[in-house]
Amino acid sequence: MIIAIDGTTASGKGTIAKRLAARYGLPHMDTGRLYRAVAVAAMKEGVPLDAAGPLADIARALDLGSFTEAELRSAEAGKAASIVAAIPSVRQALFELQRAFATREGGALLDGRDIGTVIAPDADVKLWVDADVTQRAVRRWKELIGQGEDIRLETVVEQLKARDARDQGRADAPAAMAADAILIDTTDLTIDAAVERAMAAVEAALAKGKTA
Ligand code: C5P
Repeated sequence: MIIAIDGTTASGKGTIAKRLAARYGLPHMDTGRLYRAVAVAAMKEGVPLDAAGPLADIARALDLGSFTEAELRSAEAGKAASIVAAIPSVRQALFELQRAFATREGGALLDGRDIGTVIAPDADVKLWVDADVTQRAVRRWKELIGQGEDIRLETVVEQLKARDARDQGRADAPAAMAADAILIDTTDLTIDAAVERAMAAVEAALAKGKTA
């Protein structure tokens, strides 16, 4: 089965994705890492974040193994990722890689912004994970502080709002809830409770005859 998990930034979709993938034994692709890696490579090479041609070249030649977790997870990388992600040729360059992963024999789980709408519109289970922006900012702020970043909570709130607006407002593959997706609002949920909801959605699909 194909599981598509999309949602807003810092909504908890990454954690839900990891836990579901482990539970159902599915290979997992965190597609945000691809856009983060393109952005980090561009910044290292001095390529401007609006240079469509060179950025698409970087995307086509991407070697995810050449980045550290810290550089991919930084706030700067997240912001830069959402800038390069608005460029159609970058998205096109990353499409096949994601589509091939989604259609692997035995199934797959992918998380991102456009999995249920563009990468795997044929997914068996689609989830859209969201939460109140302040809640999301607090979670992301704690994460960044834990990584040693020196950043104010107010700054994180503003960054999240700007990132959501950019991701949802872009012309090509905007971040959006698929018509047949199930909404999981994690504002008042513990991680365990959110994972329970997600599992219930998968179980419902399994009950309809899909195999994990
Ligand atoms: O999920 P994460 O914060 O790692 O994603 C970084 C950025 O990559 C997002 O803000 C979004 O602009 C972009 N992205 C995307 N499509 C995806 C996954 C991520 O446009 N499927």
